[in-house]
Amino acid sequence: MKCPDCGEHLDAALILETTDDDRPVYTDYQWWRCSGCSTPFWAVLVEDKTNIFNDDLDHRGYRPEPDQWERTRALAAACRPPRQKRCTCTVHQSPPKAYGGHAW
Ligand SMILES: [Zn+2]
Ligand SMILES: [Zn+2]
Repeated sequence: MKCPDCGEHLDAALILETTDDDRPVYTDYQWWRCSGCSTPFWAVLVEDKTNIFNDDLDHRGYRPEPDQWERTRALAAACRPPRQKRCTCTVHQSPPKAYGGHAW
């Protein structure tokens, strides 16, 4: 991932993976921070495996306020490990959202 502002590499601060119980649809909630300009980004990646002929990834990036980014990342970090799709913790039941302006 590259920063849409300065083109530097984005570091993944936290990725929370979730899945629907009854459908092969994966949704990742992603907290990114630019290694160049330090801008925090938040993104939602939806991978729909119900249609094997469609490999299009739905990946939308947002620009949350920095304190919103920090607060939601801390909430999501309460799940250990956050990469476990079938986890039943409150973070996975209701993932924290950090929407903001359009980033990509
Ligand atoms: Zn940047
Ligand atoms: Zn969890």
